[in-house]
Amino acid sequence: MKRNDKKILQLFQCDFNRNIEETFAQVLTENELIRLFFINENQAFTDGRNIVVDPAIGEVFANKEALIRAEDFMQIGRNISCSPWHALRMITRGQNIHECLHIIYSDFPNGIKTDPRAISKIRIKTLSLISNIIEDAFIEAVGCSIYDNLELYLAFERVAVLFSNTIFDGTIERALKNETTEAREPLPLIEYLSYMATFLLYPMVMQSSPSDNIIDYVNKTKQLFLDGSACGEPKARYNYIQQIFDAIEQIIPESTNELDDELITKILPGYKTHSDCDNTIGTFVNTGNNVNITRRLFTDLKNNDLPKRDFGKQINALISEYINEKNAAIKIVSAKPIVIEWNGAQFDCAAVHKNIKLIETKPKPNLNLRRAYQNIYNKYHINMLTSRIITTQNPKI
Ligand SMILES: [Zn+2]
Repeated sequence: MKRNDKKILQLFQCDFNRNIEETFAQVLTENELIRLFFINENQAFTDGRNIVVDPAIGEVFANKEALIRAEDFMQIGRNISCSPWHALRMITRGQNIHECLHIIYSDFPNGIKTDPRAISKIRIKTLSLISNIIEDAFIEAVGCSIYDNLELYLAFERVAVLFSNTIFDGTIERALKNETTEAREPLPLIEYLSYMATFLLYPMVMQSSPSDNIIDYVNKTKQLFLDGSACGEPKARYNYIQQIFDAIEQIIPESTNELDDELITKILPGYKTHSDCDNTIGTFVNTGNNVNITRRLFTDLKNNDLPKRDFGKQINALISEYINEKNAAIKIVSAKPIVIEWNGAQFDCAAVHKNIKLIETKPKPNLNLRRAYQNIYNKYHINMLTSRIITTQNPKI
């Protein structure tokens, strides 16, 4: 990441902006207990109560070319790529919305915990990955079926991540392949899950037909993925995950040692939300709401492309909001401490308090976010020891 981008990111991740996102999350989920944190872990996730987002995910905000391609795909002009700050706002809000929708509509913990199939690490991981693909496609479908104004964020997020993985002189199909998997044959399970994730979450990618290793499994489960991700009832939705698992059981390897899931985590950056074997998940119990799905993010219920929507009005309103918020954030971040001395004689009834002096001190804002991060640190301790936390100077946090 370039030095200037780093500086912008650091400025962006101030408590003022964190608070904007947290308030938004509390309003959207109608739950004032929701807390939100910026952590540079290259993914976003929630445990049903705490939301973790990474404004710098995949360094997309600093990838001008990817942003331009996403703008072109969405036909929204050059309103985002012109400013890393705008890109950070869009990307952060997109992740926030995604996690909020999980809190409202997904079950926490999900069905994996009590599933009799979940008897080994590799089987739990396979269930988690199937669940992740279905829940993410479902969440995006909810965002467009129930709400008027979330599609812009959800679609931009998905497309910007896709283009940031694209090799620029390559085709869109190459976006989701990485060097290592091209060099050696991937495990059929990984090849299969990558194929299905691309099919469901990135319908704009023209897929070539699946290889002989996985074609039968793809044909057997395509409809289950489509139906499962449009199923508005959490328990019934989990049932689709079980059916898919049963249909592909033959290609699940013996142990996780063989599993190289680099490609999958690239396609599914929110993987932790549904990974039941992870130590950070599953403390809060939350039953997802039932909902009626009428469309998907980019396609209709039959998976046909939807006509492009005109986001002009929405994007114009957003950009002027972003500019105001940026100015307010910078004003706070660059504030200097001020001490003002007031004399009693300056007030009404001056004779009564003529010898009284008032000293008003406005301290420099504390920017290390210590209080906000203490809670999340306690909870995600193990996890965060290995990650970079941008705002702390204190080694204890
Ligand atoms: Zn998700």
